[in-house]
Amino acid sequence: MHVMLAQPRGFCAGVIRAIDIVEHALERFGAPVYVRHEIVHNRHVVESLRAKGARFVEHLAEVPTGAITVFSAHGVARMVEDDASTRGLRVLDATCPLVAKVHGQGKRYVAQGRVVILIGHAGHPEVEGTMGQIPGPVVLVQNEHDVEHLALAAETPVAYITQTTLSVDDTRQVIAALKRRFVDIVGPDVDDICYATQNRQSAVRELAKVAGVILVVGAKNSSNSNRLREIGVECGVPSYLIADGSELDAAWVRDAAVVGITAGASAPETLVDGVVNVLRTLGATRVSVLPGIEEKVEFRLPAELVRVRAEVSRAS
Ligand code: SF4
Repeated sequence: MHVMLAQPRGFCAGVIRAIDIVEHALERFGAPVYVRHEIVHNRHVVESLRAKGARFVEHLAEVPTGAITVFSAHGVARMVEDDASTRGLRVLDATCPLVAKVHGQGKRYVAQGRVVILIGHAGHPEVEGTMGQIPGPVVLVQNEHDVEHLALAAETPVAYITQTTLSVDDTRQVIAALKRRFVDIVGPDVDDICYATQNRQSAVRELAKVAGVILVVGAKNSSNSNRLREIGVECGVPSYLIADGSELDAAWVRDAAVVGITAGASAPETLVDGVVNVLRTLGATRVSVLPGIEEKVEFRLPAELVRVRAEVSRAS
């Protein structure tokens, strides 16, 4: 059995930055540091930060006044920002800059008098945050069916934006449906789908050309990981989403000469290593990386981290 790793795979710049923010905050201010929602959608990442002193909460009411509080990479609604301010929390915002860019686009479109149509998945924290950041009319569509049933006249000035972790191909179809439906429509095409999502989707398509089965390492609630599995299936290759090596079923890989592995943007490489180790026990003798895009994107830590640190040193 030959194991082929997709390139790129795993952590993106936004996830690395979000984890760095929690770790830096723990180093500089000590435990506990409160984190609203899972910092990124991966249980292993969350457990490792919890062991270092992070406390994960779903509601800011659970955070004591004045405590250091980190917003997750998915972003939050303005209501949450206001709530944090009312409660006197010291916020470090780990919202991915590419999610924040979508927030900015939505605000500009509303200022132009357009109804904003967000293409995304209902209930996903990024979608809730984006809808809650736009101070005006915003409606969610998940697919072409939703577009057909929008209660808006064809002449309504509209603009679309998208969740960052969607399938590029599916999103193109929804955008095409929107363009058929509305005469005055603007939007960024699929450019809101972030570089990391697009690169990992391209890489899994390449992997599907050589692999007999694809394993996607990622959490069940990770949007981009789910899309990778779906793309593998669309390419005609049986594909499975697994949280780690313990979820690998030997029957899936029994007849495969080449087993492809990729990982969602919030899955650490140690989990990929764990899956490879399980495959070795099942007969894998070679591991190689399928050549692909080398990512060099890095995001700076937020100014708030520097500002809060300065406040603390002044006070001490
Ligand atoms: S997947 Fe994209 S948008 Fe999400 S955190 Fe990573 S870089 Fe940012």
